[in-house]
Amino acid sequence: MPMLNASPSSQLPLPYSPTSIEKKLAKIPLPLAGILQRALEGNVPNEDEIEALFHAQGNEVDALLHTADLVREARCGNTATFVITRNINFTNVCHMGCQFCNFGVNKNAENAEFLNTEKVAERAQEAQGRGATEVCIQGGLHPDMPASYYGELLDTVTAQVPGIHIHAFSPFEIWYGARKGRTAYRDFLADLKARGLASMPGTAAEILDTQVRRQLTKNKLSTENWVEIIETAHSLNIPTTSTIMYGHIDGPKHWAAHLTLLRDIQARTGGFTEFVPLGFIHADSPLYTQNPDKVRTGPTRDEHFKMHAIARIALQGYIDNIQASWVKMGPDMASQVLRAGANDLGGTLMNESISRAAGARHGQEIVPRDMVNFIQHAGLQAAQRNTLYQQLAHYGRTSKPEPQLSLIDYQRSVQVSAAYSSPQSIPVKVSA
Ligand code: SF4
Repeated sequence: MPMLNASPSSQLPLPYSPTSIEKKLAKIPLPLAGILQRALEGNVPNEDEIEALFHAQGNEVDALLHTADLVREARCGNTATFVITRNINFTNVCHMGCQFCNFGVNKNAENAEFLNTEKVAERAQEAQGRGATEVCIQGGLHPDMPASYYGELLDTVTAQVPGIHIHAFSPFEIWYGARKGRTAYRDFLADLKARGLASMPGTAAEILDTQVRRQLTKNKLSTENWVEIIETAHSLNIPTTSTIMYGHIDGPKHWAAHLTLLRDIQARTGGFTEFVPLGFIHADSPLYTQNPDKVRTGPTRDEHFKMHAIARIALQGYIDNIQASWVKMGPDMASQVLRAGANDLGGTLMNESISRAAGARHGQEIVPRDMVNFIQHAGLQAAQRNTLYQQLAHYGRTSKPEPQLSLIDYQRSVQVSAAYSSPQSIPVKVSA
């Protein structure tokens, strides 16, 4: 891979110093400089080297982030992308009791919710009307939900909203549906694909380490199960994303093993579309509130940068789309991470319940114009993409999409105008 030229001008300060990468590499210890030099030449580090990168400090971090930005430029050019999507959580009822999550509620809880398939399709239709090319559909593992619900949901959405890309069901949901239906993963997934499942979120990965998973989820969905479901999906031409949840009881050793495992899977299947680091949101999650002395309060700012930068370096040539989640980090931080290895800002969402339930301050909606602004603010060209990273609209460094109300503001405005046009709402003067 050729060495790269100067970075484009940026409005946000770069997360690394302006000194040349050559000077930076000359000033840090040789082993680390060697790993970064090889990364610039297109070679990936091994698991031990990935772990060593996570231990980088001071000048080493500066060189790491700069290298990741250059590798991002070499792999993806100077365009960063986003997708117009809507998250639809069809139920918040879940009895799995994952310690890091407080989204799931008991089925008898006052706020328990279960959307029928028509309601999900209605939301998908509303999303398509607002320009969404994708709906991301996931839900809790409701104890009374029949396995047939997953397929019926796809039937209804594909019938009512033709053309929308259905990105749905985490490996945990596939595990659950297949168990409930007493079906093999392959048969269950093949049926879902035939009924409209176009791709899957590679969530529920958390940290693919048995000891850590025991504490997070009692290892209900084991690493082996997760890998088997993902590889089965890939073998059926159902692409998936890949994720990590970091910043709780985990550390560099787990992160290095996790990245290496994802890279090995990708070498076998080629089915991952992207890698999405998801910082742990500690507030209100039982994992933290029940063990505040033992559990970290999510990743530090430094760790957010390192995770995206190291993922870029470790996955280059295997998974070349690294997503910065504005839901977890906030839009400002996500924009900065675009200059430390990431090339994608994810989806507009139009409301997202899981992170907000676990205390995230972000996670409602960012309209396309905001996405473009955040990307351009990072000094990159903005493009809207579809789920599979085909670019659909280009905005360069200065053009903008039309302004648009957020879904919630839009719904409010519809309610207000309906109220004003409703005869009952017109104030009537009652004569005495
Ligand atoms: S993370 Fe998912 S499976 Fe686990 S408790 Fe929450 S909703 Fe249920």
